[in-house]
Amino acid sequence: MKIIETKIEIQAYLKSNSNSKIGFIPTMGALHQGHLELVKRSKEENDVSVCSIFVNPTQFNNSEDLLKYPRTLEEDCNKLKEIGCDAVFAPSFEEMYVSMPTIKFDFGHLEHIMEGKFRPGHFNGVGIVVSKLFNIVKPTQAYFGQKDIQQVAVIKSLVKDLSFDLKIIVCDTIREKNGLAMSSRNRRLSENAKEIAPKIYESLLLAKKLLLMGVNAENTKLEIRNFYKSFQQFELEYFEITDYSSLENIAFHKAEGQTAVIIATYLDGVRLIDNLIF
Ligand code: AMP
Repeated sequence: MKIIETKIEIQAYLKSNSNSKIGFIPTMGALHQGHLELVKRSKEENDVSVCSIFVNPTQFNNSEDLLKYPRTLEEDCNKLKEIGCDAVFAPSFEEMYVSMPTIKFDFGHLEHIMEGKFRPGHFNGVGIVVSKLFNIVKPTQAYFGQKDIQQVAVIKSLVKDLSFDLKIIVCDTIREKNGLAMSSRNRRLSENAKEIAPKIYESLLLAKKLLLMGVNAENTKLEIRNFYKSFQQFELEYFEITDYSSLENIAFHKAEGQTAVIIATYLDGVRLIDNLIF
């Protein structure tokens, strides 16, 4: 497996595979099984798979979160090598940002709800880094996790609006046996917090059950607030019930596969997100 740190080298490497289908998996490292499943899927569907590892400062609206973000490059490369990833692109900040971009992305209503609302500037940073990476790697297909449901909507809008010539593949959320969605941030949870963290998934399942029973979104949300009253360790940021594709709020569950329940909560000072689609 090639480990490449510069744009020139990754482009030279990809040029030597010029007729190949290139699968691309952008990550911020601290890799877990969720990331590895994206790479495995890419390997099945492409000739060459490139995983990028870059903790992108411009998408962090909270400097402490950026500082505490786990960085485990060597361990990550070992995991990628083991599953047969072809190349890792791990650029430095200077390599990615020769100068600070002055361009600003505005993803419309996505900026004003959920992650957009609570992490101002986050999607601008995502849009910038993903555009840069797409331009450097020029993938045939790029792989993203459903866990970041709003990020998927942002990336799809980026690809459509800027006519990026590639296909976005969205992969299921990979969970621990206890239901907790895998996340690089889970490493920062204390043992006590890890024990209680599966309540997040439990609350999504409870919302799903209520909505499928015909309870409206407003009352479902009230039930969820009540659920979290018994677990004071959580500091709920939002719990939304939306249409899966538009991410607009809905009043009731509609047809199969069209409802998303989406949560962001702090636990132990660590911000966790998750969602369920049904
Ligand atoms: P990150 O390193 O957190 O920026 O994530 C890189 C990619 O992995 C994103 O497309 C995420 O949505 C995806 N991802 C993160 N966690 C999971 C998970 N538990 N299951 C599936 N995909 C995930």
